Amino acid sequence: RIKVSGVEKSNGLLIVLSGPSGAGKGTLCRELLRQVPDVVYSVSATSRAARPGETEGIHYFFRSRDEFRAMVEQDELLEWAEFCGNYYGTPRFAVEQSLQAGRDVILEIEIQGALQIKKRFPQGVFIFVVPPSLDVLAERIHKRGTEAEEVIRKRLDTAVHELEYVSEYDYVVENDEIPAAVEKLHSILVAEKCRVKRR
Ligand code: 5GP
Repeated sequence: RIKVSGVEKSNGLLIVLSGPSGAGKGTLCRELLRQVPDVVYSVSATSRAARPGETEGIHYFFRSRDEFRAMVEQDELLEWAEFCGNYYGTPRFAVEQSLQAGRDVILEIEIQGALQIKKRFPQGVFIFVVPPSLDVLAERIHKRGTEAEEVIRKRLDTAVHELEYVSEYDYVVENDEIPAAVEKLHSILVAEKCRVKRR
């Protein structure tokens, strides 16, 4: 690595993307990774059942609740949380290895987990994705058509609560139009790569 006036960067950036379910962070994340393919996407473990079209090891590592708890006990997760009745967590190994190799890593996780990551990695880049309105959010969750009515209600209630946490993040990106939102994410990444002073 080139050393410029005493500034040397070796570790990759840890980027954390959060936001209410249905804000579109999954779509934004996919688009961003298409444009910046050398960013590593951290595949989470979850106890939730796979949705149609989801593949083991690509979208999630699908585990039973017992298997998940064993991962927690063996300290295999960087963070974990229970969200709407299911466990979600970030496997430690891949993230640490990629960062040490100088690669940028993106975590798409909910807020409780993001706050745990912030304690461990205060130098991370924390981005909050918001929908243009709660009506749009409700419409998007309904349109996805993968959740039962009761689950949708729970996710919407959680979303209202989650929006209070924006101030914990470094950046907020409104997802109105996907290409514009992706461009904002991309710009944040580029700027952070050029940053001299870390937090
Ligand atoms: P979904 O069930 O819609 O895939 O995800 C539900 C929520 O869990 C989303 O907000 C998603 O970002 C979050 N999530 C996914 N993986 C993780 C993880 O590893 N840790 C935490 N804390 N949240 C996660």
